Amino acid sequence: MDDAREAADRLEALIEAAGSVVAFTGAGLSTECGVPDFRSPGSPWLTNMPIDFSDFLRDPAARAESWRRKFAMDDVYRDVAPGRGHRALAALAARGKIGAIITQNIDNLHQLSGVPDETLIELHGNGSYARCLSCGMRHELAETRRAFEASGEAPSCACGGIVKSATISFGQAMPVEAMRRAQAATLACDLFIAIGSSLVVHPAAGFPALARQNGAKLAIVNREPTPLDSRADLVIRGDIGDALERYVAPANQAHFR
Ligand code: NAD
Repeated sequence: MDDAREAADRLEALIEAAGSVVAFTGAGLSTECGVPDFRSPGSPWLTNMPIDFSDFLRDPAARAESWRRKFAMDDVYRDVAPGRGHRALAALAARGKIGAIITQNIDNLHQLSGVPDETLIELHGNGSYARCLSCGMRHELAETRRAFEASGEAPSCACGGIVKSATISFGQAMPVEAMRRAQAATLACDLFIAIGSSLVVHPAAGFPALARQNGAKLAIVNREPTPLDSRADLVIRGDIGDALERYVAPANQAHFR
């Protein structure tokens, strides 16, 4: 048996033995879909670096530049679809095996793979729409873009508030309700699987450590080492799609190939 197959078997044994599983996902889950992760070499996120929240609030020119970068990135990733990892997690959630998916991703691909809102916890928000920072009203990107391209100025809300992509920027407070749900799910699980995350972005990266401290088993699927590898019950240092492919429903596999 090859190493990858044996590792996937060990993960399957942990999943089948567990009563309550949490999946914690990072940018590595979406690289197979053509969305680069943050830290791998050549990442466009580092050239189109998100603008710090305080600069966004303070400076209209920074806001306009932030929207320009956002729409440039959206054009590149317009047609991305869920990969094997997303579809496997959606299938495990549909089977009732996974109770919560805590994600750092903002790409909306868990939703597109069919994961229901009550299962998904987005720690860093969602880049597929925008919100007013004052009244909280949702703004659709198509309309926001039209206004931006017509005026060259960062859009504002009817209430006068600043409109921002519904993601959490560097320097912006974490969403309270998502953090509360993530903590509750982490403390309730007996298996926590971290998938495609370098586990260096805090506070999100605190959840796998918390699960381990609380007595849950910890599995890590990531092609590079992480700071928590030495504390994990299982480390799969390989490709996410390969490790999780067996959970993708066969009809779904055929559809996406
Ligand atoms: P990261 O870029 O720090 O780490 C991703 C990890 O995934 C890396 O260690 C890499 O080796 C691994 N990886 C990449 N492709 C893989 C594959 N196919 N199989 C196995 N491992 C693979 O990502 P992070 O920990 O999520 O932190 C980055 C931050 O940037 C997050 O806060 C996230 O919000 C944001 N971000 C999101 C997206 C997205 O939504 N898709 C993309 C880039 C950045």
